[in-house]
Formats: sequence, C-alpha cells, structure tokens
Amino acid sequence: MRPTWATVDLDAITHNVRALRSVVAPSQLCAVVKANGYGHGAVPVARAAIAGGATWLAVAFAGEGIELRDAGIDAPVLVLSEPRPEEMAEARAADLCVTVYTADGIDAAARAAKVVGAPWPVHLKIDTGMHRVGVAPRHAVAAANRIASVPSLQLGGVCTHCAVADVPDDPFTAQQLDCFDQVLAALRENGHQPAIVHAANSAGAIAHPHARRDLVRCGIAIYGIAPSSALEGSVALRPALRLRSEIVHLQTLDAGERVSYGRRWQAERVARVATIPIGYADGVRRSYGLDGGVVLVRGKRCPVIGVVTMDQLLVDVSDVDPQLGDEVMLIGAQGNSVITANDVAATLGTIGYEVACALGARVPRRYVGGAS
Ligand SMILES: *Cc1c(COP(=O)(O)O)cnc(C)c1O
Repeated sequence: MRPTWATVDLDAITHNVRALRSVVAPSQLCAVVKANGYGHGAVPVARAAIAGGATWLAVAFAGEGIELRDAGIDAPVLVLSEPRPEEMAEARAADLCVTVYTADGIDAAARAAKVVGAPWPVHLKIDTGMHRVGVAPRHAVAAANRIASVPSLQLGGVCTHCAVADVPDDPFTAQQLDCFDQVLAALRENGHQPAIVHAANSAGAIAHPHARRDLVRCGIAIYGIAPSSALEGSVALRPALRLRSEIVHLQTLDAGERVSYGRRWQAERVARVATIPIGYADGVRRSYGLDGGVVLVRGKRCPVIGVVTMDQLLVDVSDVDPQLGDEVMLIGAQGNSVITANDVAATLGTIGYEVACALGARVPRRYVGGAS
C-alpha cells in the first residue's frame, strides 16, 4: 500500500557469492546472514547464497539459527558467538554448530550434547587481538583438551577474527594471523586436528590471501557492499538492496521560508519542495539532510532539507521538474546516477553495514530474482 519499499535482488546475492568463491577458491564460503541478513531478510538471502555455492551459513545468536531451521533450511549453520549455557540445548536440538571459548560454555555444550547420540562438533574461537570474544592464545590448548576430553563433543573447527582486515596495509592483520598459526601449531602438537580452520570476514577474504584457510565468513560483500572504501571495486559485486519511495506532496516556498521541526533549513530563493513518505522510523537517520544527504529524483541528486521526521522527509527539488508520484531513490540507481549504501554511510560518518542494518522493519522488502 505504501509507496515506500526496499527491493532485494536475490540474483545479485547469488552472483556475489559466486564471484567471492572464485576469488577465494579452494576455500569454502560461509554466508553470514545475521541481523536479518544485514537487513535484507535472512531466509531468502540464505537460500540465494546456497544457490551461489555457499556451503555454510553463519548467524550471531542461536535464535537466528533456529529461525533458519524453522524455515526449512538444513545447511550447516555456525553461531558466531558462544550461546549462554541455558541456550545450548536448543542450539543442539536445532543442529547448530556453536562457537565456544569459555570453560563454562564448553561444559554446557557437553551437557547439551549428551542428550543426543553422535558427538557435537563445536568451533573453538581464539582471540588473536580483536579482544571481543575468544579464548586467549595461551589457554587455547587447555580449551581444546577440555573439548576432546568429553565424548559428547568434538573439535569441529578453530577460528579467529581480524580487527583491521578492511585496512589492507595495516600490519596488525599479519600479526593476528601469525598468532593464529602459532596456536594452530600448538594444537596439532597436542594431537588436535580440527576439520575446519577459518579466520576471514569479507575484507579478509578479499584482501588477505593468508586469511582464507578452509572457509571464509562473508557478510557485507555478499550483499554487494564493499567492506571499506579501500576495497571498493576489488571484486565485481552487485548491490542487492535498493530503497525507493515517491513524491506524495509538492509545494512552492518563498525565499526565507523554513521547513520541518526546529526550522533548520531556510529557502534562499523560491523553492520547490517535495514530501517523501519515509522517515527515521524506517531507518533514515534524523540528521541525514543536515549532514548533506541526497536522494535521486529524475536521475538527479537532490538535497534532503531540514530534519528527517519519523515518517516523512523533505527534498529540495527546485533543480528538476518534479511531479506527484515521481520515484525517489534513497539507495540504488536511477538514470545514470547511483547512491550506494557506502555513499549514505560516508555522509553520516558511519559504514555501509550500519546503513543496511538500520533499514526498519516497517519497510516492506520486495524480492526479485532467485528461485521464486
Ligand atoms: C559479522 C561477522 C563476520 C562477517 O563480517 P563481514 O565484514 O560482514 O564480512 C564474520 N565473522 C564474524 C565473527 C562476524 O561477527
């Protein structure tokens, strides 16, 4: 009903997974679909990624993995952080592969696994310098021993996460990978043979061949958004998300008149002003106009003016010849112009990840391409 929607091109997701796989081969690709597939919709993205050859899926929390299972997706699913002890039984019942890094987490996983027959493969995460989650390198062998000592568990994988992979010449990534290699050597010396080793996010997969290992965990790149401006264009990715609305009201303001809450923008000349039915409740930052944000109308960049309100925003369309019902593109291409998620992010002083994830639940997603 509302003339505001996001279009998600599932063929673009499939294409991006294929393109990334050809870069990282023979490593496998794990498609990261946490946070509702970075705002794109976890279940349709997961299916499109599998169609492109992803052999694993990853989520942040066990509940997100259970949603994939409830939708009938049976691919291996990795939970990227350690579930709390009380979540382990459900994670096991849903056949999720959990990341562990604490003694309590390993013990809880062991108890949950006992209920079912075969050993539960878990992935041990090593903190090589991100200092978010993971076991300290000096305690890695003890943690692996703890996993191996219980018959209900199995060390299915060992992994780490890089803090600055998106800055290609930062030497810290090589330091982290050196640390990881030392831990892997110590694990082998102590008789541990993890089936799957992984370290790379999208930026690691694209920019750091030594990070690729058995599997790469790609999120942002499968959506066609470059992990950072330094990596823009290094793989031919297609943006999957477009965000559009349309003009629902037009007015002509005299020079000197002001718009929106706080009257923060003033017309310097007679101005044509369009009202667009999308606002901060939909994920458009309230300050977008004040920060220099633009939208596309009739293929031209037009400034958002005044503060964005909850449900509507205002655009100075004086430089185009607008009509009611004209399409307004907030993210995506129109004519020869394009606004990417990273363009919006640069305007706001953030990253494309946050722009995609901010897309509100109120915005309908329309899927194109894919098996449907
Ligand atoms: C979110 C996440 C990823 C995916 O990162 P991208 O930069 O989006 O590719 C990979 N690994 C871990 C541990 C994550 O939390």
